[in-house]
Amino acid sequence: MSAGTWDYSVFWKETMNQLKQEISEQEWVMWFNNIAYDSSNETTIILRVPSSFYRDQVIQRYLPVIESKLRDLSGHKLSLSFAIVQTPQKEAPVKQSSPAAPPAPKAKKKPHPNLKSDYIFDTFVIGENNSFAANAAYAIAKNPGTAYNPCLIYGGVGLGKTHLIQSIGNAAYQEFDNFKVVYVTAETFTNEFIEAIRDKKNHLFKNKYRGVDILLIDDIHFLQNKTETQEELFHTFNALYDANKQMVFTCDRPVSELKHLTDRLRSRFERGLNVDLQPPNFETRFAILKRKIDNKRVQINDDVIELICRNVTTNVRDLEAALTKLMAYSDLVNKNVTLEIAQQQLKDVFSNPKQNNITLEMIQRVVAEYFALSHNDLRGKKRTKGIAFPRQIAMYIAREITEYSTTEVGLEFGGRDHTTVMHACQRVDSRMKTDPTLDPTIQHLIRMIKDHGTKAS
Ligand code: ADP
Ligand code: MG
Repeated sequence: MSAGTWDYSVFWKETMNQLKQEISEQEWVMWFNNIAYDSSNETTIILRVPSSFYRDQVIQRYLPVIESKLRDLSGHKLSLSFAIVQTPQKEAPVKQSSPAAPPAPKAKKKPHPNLKSDYIFDTFVIGENNSFAANAAYAIAKNPGTAYNPCLIYGGVGLGKTHLIQSIGNAAYQEFDNFKVVYVTAETFTNEFIEAIRDKKNHLFKNKYRGVDILLIDDIHFLQNKTETQEELFHTFNALYDANKQMVFTCDRPVSELKHLTDRLRSRFERGLNVDLQPPNFETRFAILKRKIDNKRVQINDDVIELICRNVTTNVRDLEAALTKLMAYSDLVNKNVTLEIAQQQLKDVFSNPKQNNITLEMIQRVVAEYFALSHNDLRGKKRTKGIAFPRQIAMYIAREITEYSTTEVGLEFGGRDHTTVMHACQRVDSRMKTDPTLDPTIQHLIRMIKDHGTKAS
């Protein structure tokens, strides 16, 4: 057979149909909307992707499942090959571990009045903990109101939510002429709304928020229990959504875990793309600190940076705080920062209970030992009562004293779903109401785990 006569497009199409059923819509939109079948040869399907970033992510996330489906459908092994075809509109940001490419150079406008000028993509270090969120944010800034609308970025404190949401605002504001970018915290939104009602200026409030091109609302967990503000935001949302105006929100947890939020607003937040920010790993922490130091005139050696990154694991804000403390000290006493000075100056920071170095494994071991079970019992599948409840207690403690998300906790407990972890926490909570010995037991376990944590560090 001559080259040209191979056409595996039907297999590709069917593979995509199947995959679409198996992954969430967000994942689908994020990774497969921009991939197209190009051509085939005897053993290979060639696909068009917009960037090497997309190619690498798709390979990393989906290659095994795609190849296995293709094998099942075609009866033999087909490989994938990728052609990078840059469509200027949809171009995705660059490779991991480096900042997203800045928008094409343009005559700069004046800075946006409510956005911090250093919260830009250029200063945001990308690692595996945040690449999905950062790239979605970048795509939104380039194409507001199209594919990822609304977008909700969630994660714990100090992980870069405000930095990212403001980067979207800054980039879009510079990129598009006459573009109305409004950034507020949910708290300010609430206060303005209350004042508008009090001063009978509802129409001004409505005009402000319904006439924007991009609405960015930070920290929407603040809206819990604020029923009237929620109602107002619901209508604002609908008006903007119908007009294809971009909305981005941030939240300190998944929307499903917010309490006291009306169902209809919750379902609006869940529409579109929800992406999370995780704590950065060691390499990313290192890269972030290096970047921060580059921008300053002080000199701090890599061994000092490493010391900080090994010890401060919670989030980027704590990481920056440790660095700031060292630099202030070095400024005051006019000395270079040595490893000894760093160790001594940051003693308190490192022993802060938040920096507890507590791992999920440590929790599992302490809880297992207490209940005379094995570590593997807690990680395993067995659901007998003698194991299930200690396992739930361990999950509960994990959520109480670490920054791990329900998804991460679930993974470490035998690959369970995040809803199982949520259920475990509810179960322990309600048992505590009827069993007065449970709370003291859990407090005791927490103390033992923390003791382990300090010994291990
Ligand atoms: P959050 O809003 O999630 O609490 P912030 O956006 O305020 O967190 O981030 C806290 C600090 O950490 C800010 O100074 C921010 O610039 C910095 N930061 C967070 N993530 C990154 C990152 N990936 N690269 C560079 N700086 C970061
Ligand atoms: Mg914030």
